[in-house]
Amino acid sequence: MSLKGRVVPDPVDIGQIAAPPFVRLPDIATHFAARATRLDALAPGNPLEPFLRFVADIARAQHKAAGALSAGMLPGDDHIAFCKAHRFALIERLTWVRDASFVSGARAIARALIGVRMPEAAASALAAFTARDDKSIDALADRLLREEQEPWDMAEVPFVAAALELHWARMAARLDPAVPVPLEPRSLCPVCGSTALTSVVEAAAGRQGSRFLCCGLCQARWNYTRIQCAHCVSTKGIAYHHVEGGSKAVRAETCDECRTYTKALYLEEAPDLDPVADDLATLPLDLLVGEAGWRRARLNWYLMPQDEEAPEPLSATSA
Ligand SMILES: [Zn+2]
Ligand SMILES: [Zn+2]
Repeated sequence: MSLKGRVVPDPVDIGQIAAPPFVRLPDIATHFAARATRLDALAPGNPLEPFLRFVADIARAQHKAAGALSAGMLPGDDHIAFCKAHRFALIERLTWVRDASFVSGARAIARALIGVRMPEAAASALAAFTARDDKSIDALADRLLREEQEPWDMAEVPFVAAALELHWARMAARLDPAVPVPLEPRSLCPVCGSTALTSVVEAAAGRQGSRFLCCGLCQARWNYTRIQCAHCVSTKGIAYHHVEGGSKAVRAETCDECRTYTKALYLEEAPDLDPVADDLATLPLDLLVGEAGWRRARLNWYLMPQDEEAPEPLSATSA
């Protein structure tokens, strides 16, 4: 995809920061439905319209599956106490042993997508995903979590990613929000240990300017310094860019220390924004910031098989 335009730097406004709660956990009753609604609103006229509508259908499938599953496991009190004492993530993405509700959720999502219009390649991938046995779905999920996916996995990534999001978000939603504590480094999700997908800057009265990093796995948000690299935690060499003449609701926070960027989403400019939806709908910003020399700190799973020009992810362990 070639693009005209350029990114322009924004002046920095540190806002009026009150003391926000450290963590916000997803509300599973509304989380994926709200994402679908946002994608539907962003799709018309977007260069990626068919793709945004496809991800909206996946989010609707996630919402439907969420209402149909049994509760599943949660970490026990001993596990939580141990993690808190050692500053480990509570439901760590690489070490948490997923129970059978993960594959049940994956199959429920796949069932909810039967009959949905989608590109031929996606329909073939869905059929391949559905034909996998439970062990094979788990193995595919493990490869995605470890960022070791094989080229032949790529077409199925949206479905296994949706299942992983659903599984972790259902657990995160049932945690006591008072339990998660900051990890070291603070850029890691306190619930699952992932690096941030995006960040959101608040607009509500009393919280203007406070910022939360957003997890792409468990969907938790955690409070984070406003002007600090979401990847390497540097506070030096941070700048903000938006597409010239375009919306300022989504800006790229670039870091000259690690040469990565993470998007910052501004609720003041777009009160209905969704971290995943607004990230996907602003691919031109990624392309321009990439051309200017910064790499995306964390790739959006939904973009992996869809666009060959999507930037390469960095290792989640390099933070
Ligand atoms: Zn997380
Ligand atoms: Zn950095």
